[in-house]
Amino acid sequence: MKAAILSTGDELTTGRTLDTNANYIADQLLGLGYEVTAMMTVGDFPDRIEAAWKALFERADVIIGTGGLGPTADDLTTETVAAMIGRPLIEDKPTVDRMRSLFESMGRTMPENNLKQALFPEGATILENALGTAPGFRFETETPHGTRYGVVLPGVPREMKHILADSVLPWLSSLRRSDEVFRSHTFQTFGISESALDEMVAGVLDPETTRLAFRAAFPQISVRVSVAGSPDVVAARLDAAAKAMRERLGEYCYGEGNTNMETEVGRVLSERGATVAVAESCSGGLIGNRLTDVPGSSGYVLGGVIAYDNSVKTSVLGVSKATLEQHGAVSTEVAEQMAAGVRKLTGATFGIATTGIAGPGGGSEDKPVGTVCIAIASDDRTASHRYQLWGNREWVKLLTSQIALDWVRRAALGQDPTQSSVLRK
Ligand code: AMP
Ligand code: MG
Repeated sequence: MKAAILSTGDELTTGRTLDTNANYIADQLLGLGYEVTAMMTVGDFPDRIEAAWKALFERADVIIGTGGLGPTADDLTTETVAAMIGRPLIEDKPTVDRMRSLFESMGRTMPENNLKQALFPEGATILENALGTAPGFRFETETPHGTRYGVVLPGVPREMKHILADSVLPWLSSLRRSDEVFRSHTFQTFGISESALDEMVAGVLDPETTRLAFRAAFPQISVRVSVAGSPDVVAARLDAAAKAMRERLGEYCYGEGNTNMETEVGRVLSERGATVAVAESCSGGLIGNRLTDVPGSSGYVLGGVIAYDNSVKTSVLGVSKATLEQHGAVSTEVAEQMAAGVRKLTGATFGIATTGIAGPGGGSEDKPVGTVCIAIASDDRTASHRYQLWGNREWVKLLTSQIALDWVRRAALGQDPTQSSVLRK
């Protein structure tokens, strides 16, 4: 089955709003085994909206449109679609009642132009919107290219996602031919560029039956392996593909499925009954923030110190003044004392520390911007490494937090994080 996506709105064609809807919908459709053959964006003009629908009917069985369902005069999708498929607009009484009570519950009277949002092409299936006033709808129509399905959703991303998940995706999966199913598995990687990753996995999988999709949300890059096949072979096919990928990715893969580094750290620490405390200089609390983004982190995060100034490094963490003078605040020696200090202070299994130069100022020939030292302390040892990172201040902080979290994860797995080749090449 082929699908196409149409985004409508002047805010999109004038560049004021980034079209995140199309991107999100494409990802969801791929997950269901639909092939997205086209994505289009048009402004709020009836002739352009109609031309876009007609063009997409040539290219796909299902068209998913977003935007143009608002109450204002510039929102024209519903009437344009109704006219295009030759159906009158009919007011849906339950939608009117729902909208009125929604306004009443906010202590307001509903402006009459909202009634527009209760009009739907005759015969359309209304897709309930629990998060806003405008429901979506779907319809079936005969075109010169065959039977086509149209789905119209509000542009507000939160509402679009909700209706898509509740009413559209289940319907789409039932619409799809069932002789071929589709499965995918995602690997989360860190420490290798997208292009290097691509090279690394080249030739591992059979392009006839599997597809790879890379997605970079720096500093993490995920790779999704997708396989298609009849229900009896698809599971084994995915298992084999995932196994081959796992072997090839090796230590660059830190998690599988929908996860991230802080979640994996939490999982590993919880499994071992271990705890962590942070001593952060250049990362400024980012590691603590990320660790505590994970629900349930109170089970393994003890606390930490933002030891930005040297006085805090010495007075709170017990870093020696002599070490500071001899090696400077940005040194593996100081990082190790910070890690050991916070571990002692809190009694955590692991103390993780960062000290570095995030820039743009403060660099020297010896220690240029991006010099970052990371250390970890556990009961039997303290280990550290000096990295040369790159990018702006925000990026150096983010990358520092990512490496530090990866260190905690590796240490909790019983590995020596300083032996990892991640970010060393
Ligand atoms: P509409 O349904 O056209 O009234 O859209 C309501 C709001 O949703 C717009 O003002 C945008 O802020 C947002 N929006 C609409 N389309 C998109 C899109 N394709 N991607 C991201 N945001 C969108
Ligand atoms: Mg709009």
